[in-house]
Amino acid sequence: MQKQKLLINGERLREELERFADFGRTEKNGVTRLALSDEDRRARDYFRFCCEELGLDVKVDDLGCMYATLEGTENKPPILIGSHLDSVKKGGRFDGVLGVVAGLEVVRTIIDHNITPKVPITVVNFTNEEGARFEPSMMASGILAGKFEKSVMLQKKDSDGITFGEALKGIGYEGQVENRLKEATALLEMHIEQGPILESEALSIGVVECVVGMACYEIEVTGESDHAGTTPMNMRKDALFATNNLINEIRSYLGSLDQELVYTIGRVNVYPSIHTVIPNKVVFTLEARHKDMGIVNNVKEFIEALPKLEENEGCEIKATKLWDRDTVWFEPELCNLLEQSAKSLGYSHKRMVSGAGHDAQFIASYVPTTMLFVPSKNGKSHCEEELTTWEECEKGVNVILDTVLNLLSK
Ligand SMILES: [Zn+2]
Repeated sequence: MQKQKLLINGERLREELERFADFGRTEKNGVTRLALSDEDRRARDYFRFCCEELGLDVKVDDLGCMYATLEGTENKPPILIGSHLDSVKKGGRFDGVLGVVAGLEVVRTIIDHNITPKVPITVVNFTNEEGARFEPSMMASGILAGKFEKSVMLQKKDSDGITFGEALKGIGYEGQVENRLKEATALLEMHIEQGPILESEALSIGVVECVVGMACYEIEVTGESDHAGTTPMNMRKDALFATNNLINEIRSYLGSLDQELVYTIGRVNVYPSIHTVIPNKVVFTLEARHKDMGIVNNVKEFIEALPKLEENEGCEIKATKLWDRDTVWFEPELCNLLEQSAKSLGYSHKRMVSGAGHDAQFIASYVPTTMLFVPSKNGKSHCEEELTTWEECEKGVNVILDTVLNLLSK
């Protein structure tokens, strides 16, 4: 006979998500909870209160990351569950906070059932994932993983000129460096998908195998400005017409590479941008993302070869790489465990990639890590319409709970 599965309390999960949404709730039922703002402080205080009430030991590191630990019977590195409590301006009620509340609910369920875990379980809140107030995003996890320099990050300023370091002290969340996340048995980050795939395929659970690699370029096309009325068409060096040709070529080549490749020309600046003057310069960005770095490299080679192109409206082309990153693959064994749990709970699921960045991608450099996605209504996020149904939230947390129980029984 199959053993009855332990399940979380869906009603309590919903109430807690609503409670957190009160910290910075907007008129249209979204959330503005910028990192280290007063709303963030209140959400943190409440998180701490909930954890201490459960008897967890709450520690804060020098970056303001919070770790609430349910002790285990063995002195082993903890299983971490969490994400981030900060949001973008006029963001949603689920992005980030869902992963933290999931951890809280898993711990509550474990305590409800008088389970004493062998391995400690830690609920984590990573500081400043969004980078909406202090750039870059994933700041604290980036420092933890050694990707960013702490001294540089402390000096990052918001639009009012307040530094990250000042804001951290200001809300009283500058803890000790010795509390930083070091070793862990696993990190499970549950998050909304922020894309339309799960919903469009009517699936409940996404087991995330990787965060895709990407490359971002700035391309500059230089021609010559002349009078729009007096210069014959065959005597022009029009940077915008040249750009138009380029964009067509980029679209056609990148479109032929792989169906899963996504690419965006997100910024185009035309100079001098006067309706009676032929454009002498166009600067635009191109970014492309794919899990297979071979394909990302094809994109890079293609873009870097653009300046050598033959005659294009008599204009010159320069391509500068702004930045790139390799695909981060998550721990296969943890992906298997998530999948197994989703299956055994009878939830529809699939393996997928993350096109967006998450704290998990940095932490994965030194802790076995994976992510779980739940569907985003209409694929929307970072806006007040962001929505994941309570039922889908509950299913996701049940998968996390089941996975934690499986890890504990190992
Ligand atoms: Zn997020």
